[in-house]
Amino acid sequence: RASISGGAAAANPPRINRWNRRPYSARYLKLLKKRRALPVWQQKDEFLRALRDNQTLILVGETGCGKTTQIPQFVLEAEGLGDRPVVACTQPSRITAMLAARHVAQEMDVTVGYEVGYSVRFEHCWSRKTVLKYLTDGMLLREAMADPLLEKYNVIILDEVHDRTLATDVLFAHLKEVLKKRPGLKLVVMSAYLEAEKFQGYFSGAAPLMKVHGRLHPVDIFYTQKPERDYLEAAIRTALKVFEPGPPSLRGGPPGRKIVVSTNIAETSLTIDGIVYVIDPGFTKHKVYNLRIRVESLLVSPICKGSANQRADCAGRTRPGKCFRLYTDKSFNEDLQPQTYPEILRSNLAYTVLILKKLGVDDLVHFDFMDYPAPETLMRALEVLNYLGAFDDEGNLTPLGEMMSEFPLDPQMSKMLVISSKYNCSNEIATIAAMLSAQNCFLRPREARKAAGEARVRFGHIDGDHLTLLNVYHAYKQNDEDPQWCYDHFINARALKYADNVRRQLVGIMTRFGLKMCSPNFNSSAYYANIIKALAAGYFMQVALLEQNGHYRTVKNNQIVDLHPSNSMYHKPEWVIFDEFVLTTRNFIRTVTDVRGKWLIDVAPQSTLL
Ligand code: ADP
Ligand code: MG
Repeated sequence: RASISGGAAAANPPRINRWNRRPYSARYLKLLKKRRALPVWQQKDEFLRALRDNQTLILVGETGCGKTTQIPQFVLEAEGLGDRPVVACTQPSRITAMLAARHVAQEMDVTVGYEVGYSVRFEHCWSRKTVLKYLTDGMLLREAMADPLLEKYNVIILDEVHDRTLATDVLFAHLKEVLKKRPGLKLVVMSAYLEAEKFQGYFSGAAPLMKVHGRLHPVDIFYTQKPERDYLEAAIRTALKVFEPGPPSLRGGPPGRKIVVSTNIAETSLTIDGIVYVIDPGFTKHKVYNLRIRVESLLVSPICKGSANQRADCAGRTRPGKCFRLYTDKSFNEDLQPQTYPEILRSNLAYTVLILKKLGVDDLVHFDFMDYPAPETLMRALEVLNYLGAFDDEGNLTPLGEMMSEFPLDPQMSKMLVISSKYNCSNEIATIAAMLSAQNCFLRPREARKAAGEARVRFGHIDGDHLTLLNVYHAYKQNDEDPQWCYDHFINARALKYADNVRRQLVGIMTRFGLKMCSPNFNSSAYYANIIKALAAGYFMQVALLEQNGHYRTVKNNQIVDLHPSNSMYHKPEWVIFDEFVLTTRNFIRTVTDVRGKWLIDVAPQSTLL
């Protein structure tokens, strides 16, 4: 590393930016003034001392106190880390990683993608110059697969750990080992609130806890008298019927009151300034893994007490506020759990187990998880990976499994990609995988339902939805990726652009492994058969058989399901492959394609075991 003379401490106040050696801009000074007013700045010296004296440090401070944006910058100024330390800061979502990087690049007066960068699944924006990288926890885990000791980083910051995402929990256990092997590495664990004792206990008391003194204003909490039946209706009613008319305009802006509708990302990861009233319906969308039927689904479920308090706190950031809870105080006290179960206890672990194996973890039972997943869940994961051919019968990674682990995707999907060149259709399968990774590409605006439905039918393939997705992508390319064309055909241009980028990266990985990119002859009758066979080679565990009563039965776990009404087929095939199991009032399988029973047996001899 080049040593740079005249670091930040040399000139006081510094006028030259240490990172790019340019003079600071006026905007830098303006932002600096704002930053200095954040609570974490009161304890900057205390933080730097604690960092110097400890290998691991736990920092707790309420949302908005400056953890995500300021602490990594403090770390860059720390003594003893060299002139150009490299810092990683994890985030629980793509959006927070990208926003934090963009904002901090401004604060540091550098260009995002150079000195400050980010890395999220399928999108990398950093360079060799990068000293501070925001990345999703899942991305850091993937980096660990290639570089188990994460040697390119001097300091790793695990942020928003109260979320207890699956990847953060795995990183905890992995980093605990890495810290022993790399005495020079430092770990900072940050959280908006935390079961502090649990975390300290996890690090055997070796990690001091530092609390940032917040300055929250009081928040009055109101409950409903009786339970609400429809929380959406109640929320709208509370927002419109309860308040006085909005205030007059401020400083020439438009008059009125701004209403922000937000997911739980605003609970702790994003600060929305100027909020005074919060309406809390008391629900969240929550991932649940049903071990019995082996299905992972998103369910609307009650929040925990911790989330309720975080939501209320949002009202008190600027001045005293009010929080309207759309449930009774009895319900708050008696029904809500203190904390949500960590994700690791409610997820399908096939992808995680594949990564752990690649990280060299052979003994899952003794891996130092903060909370242990049920042994059955681990067994299921091993079983799936064995059926897919990623693990042999002894539980060792096979060459196929090695390749599969390189794709940041569900193992069934990576299996399909790796196998696709054998069926001469890697181009098509890469497209299907990319389309499945993107958001739903069909728009259905309320005011044009009928026209949108008709447009969709024109892309429809009678053999199934996977092939329909292929049609959409081809049409998009044939029309030069034109956003106007997308608009006219009720296609979500953003989803297609995303899919196109994902596809490029998947092709990159496949090419790196020497997998041939090829297509079957379009005029041959085997064109679609080959594609569906490759699909089946990955998804043979997600097939359903038509019953006499007209419903389907999933083969692996005997659930009665129906084809989702959005499917593009005009008939009910005997066998179907599906992408998703949707639990609503009825059980649906969504994104379905016709498959011959014989092909299932040909491509996946294991399927007879199911
Ligand atoms: P914490 O991580 O402790 O919740 P942050 O570091 O995210 O706090 O935020 C500190 C302050 O910086 C907040 O007042 C927030 O509004 C502001 N801030 C953070 N990100 C952005 C952004 N992308 N644009 C503008 N302001 C931001
Ligand atoms: Mg934060």
